[in-house]
Amino acid sequence: MSDDAWISKVVIVGGGSAGWMTAAALARGLDRRCQIQVVESQDIGVVGVGEATIPPIRLFNAMLGLDEAEFMRETKATYKLGIEFRDWGRAGDRYFHPFGVYGLNPEMGHFFQYWLKLSLAGEPLALSDYSLCAQAAQAGRFDRQSDDPRDPMSTFGSAYHFDTILYGQYLRRFAQGLGVARTEGEVVAVDQDPQTGFVTAIQLKSGQRVEGELFIDCSGFKGLLIEQTLKAGYDDWSSYLPMDRAAAVPCERRGPLSPFTTSTAREAGWQWRIPLQHRVGNGYVYSSQFIADDQVVEALLGNLESPPLAEARLLRFTTGRRRKTWDRNVVAIGLSSGFLEPLESTSIHLIQASINKLLQHFPDRSFSPANRDAFNRRIQADTETIRDFLILHYHATDRDDGDLWRYVRDMPIPDSLAERIALFRERGQLVIGPDEMFTPTSWLAVLLGQNIRPRSYTPLVAGHDSRAIANGFRGMKAQIARRVEAMPNHADYLKRHGMWAADAVIA
Ligand code: FAD
Repeated sequence: MSDDAWISKVVIVGGGSAGWMTAAALARGLDRRCQIQVVESQDIGVVGVGEATIPPIRLFNAMLGLDEAEFMRETKATYKLGIEFRDWGRAGDRYFHPFGVYGLNPEMGHFFQYWLKLSLAGEPLALSDYSLCAQAAQAGRFDRQSDDPRDPMSTFGSAYHFDTILYGQYLRRFAQGLGVARTEGEVVAVDQDPQTGFVTAIQLKSGQRVEGELFIDCSGFKGLLIEQTLKAGYDDWSSYLPMDRAAAVPCERRGPLSPFTTSTAREAGWQWRIPLQHRVGNGYVYSSQFIADDQVVEALLGNLESPPLAEARLLRFTTGRRRKTWDRNVVAIGLSSGFLEPLESTSIHLIQASINKLLQHFPDRSFSPANRDAFNRRIQADTETIRDFLILHYHATDRDDGDLWRYVRDMPIPDSLAERIALFRERGQLVIGPDEMFTPTSWLAVLLGQNIRPRSYTPLVAGHDSRAIANGFRGMKAQIARRVEAMPNHADYLKRHGMWAADAVIA
């Protein structure tokens, strides 16, 4: 194949986090072999929420070559060690979904089976005591992860909370530095090849026409190219994930800078709390079938730790996914490809996962259907595992204090999730594929946190001496507590490493 067969012009429609993450990564990954142009409209603006991430974001930033301290200052970021869930299984429950791994030995299987064996024998062991992330989060501390498997800090893991608008702007400057062109303007029409239906150009309100070979649709919920033009279709998952609205509002932080997200179950949904350097992001995600907007806003404002810094914003969405994320010469990335609600902070991760896969499946001018179908199948698999993981939080509940909770508790769930729960109930078995987004740590934290208890343990640990295991657990707990004690306070860590934005409030 000659070099002429490669795509020479990519047009990205939309300049939200999805648009600029895609532009920056393609510019870096394709090493200027192709022209990249982003078209965005300041008048339309961005969705502007989405502040919590999961650990692979670190790989994404590293792949771009971003300086971590600069990134943190520019986006007023904080570290996230996991999510504290309050009142989910039952009112009064509290559990922590940590990053990293449980135990000090990365071989998860045995650690958990030992824990199970002791717990079933009546030892009162809190799983959180064996997670460096959970303990550090509770103590408000942070330290750097280690690559050395002998170091306890190799079991640590972290992601970020950041201001998503600032992240988009930071990546825009970064991408422009790599040669990405930016055009301000509203897309008002789309030209297609009459035979193939391929998009050939977009037309802007100004009269300008922007041609391209590959179009990336990052236009947000509306899916300007993928849906409005190509009608790729949408799988509506609201029977499983009935949340369809959110009210969001920032406030000032009161108290220390916690390195975790908080998710509190409410009457008809849940409320997030995300601490940034300069403010706290709050939102109530709910199902409009079960509660009115004004009740939500009242409850949200009533639950803030300090007076709101702005009016509450209402956002609407339909949970689900685009049936084909790649159709003809259009690839949807970001909210245009679907939305599964923000409970486990997976949207920005899906953007990153789509970009990685697009780079792996980057087309040539022939736009091979086999290549496109492989990409679509992989994205579908990603969204299905996230869907199942999210449903678990709702379905495995004993809450009985509202119609929403009764609905999710009694609703039919996908077979894939039912099978996972059944296997876990038998003897704590978790079967997780190599490409799955959520690790055994995540599944364990949420399965147990939502009060699903295995009846037995694997025969592999049956002959092992319980007293010796219990001693090992005591040692591990003490070692974790000592390591956490030696960690700096979260805000001090940021300041000490030049990560604190000059204009952020003093912690
Ligand atoms: P948008 O931000 O909507 O950007 C769309 C872009 O397209 C804009 O630049 C717009 O100007 C442009 N555009 C649209 N139409 C046109 C046109 N006609 N002409 C020109 N330009 C156009 N994700 C997480 O990972 N973690 C979270 O904690 C999280 N929380 C969330 C909470 C809520 C309530 C919601 C709704 C989402 C949340 N998300 C979260 C998702 C996250 O916000 C998005 O995945 C992310 O911001 C990417 O958005 P986007 O770039 O796809 O869309």
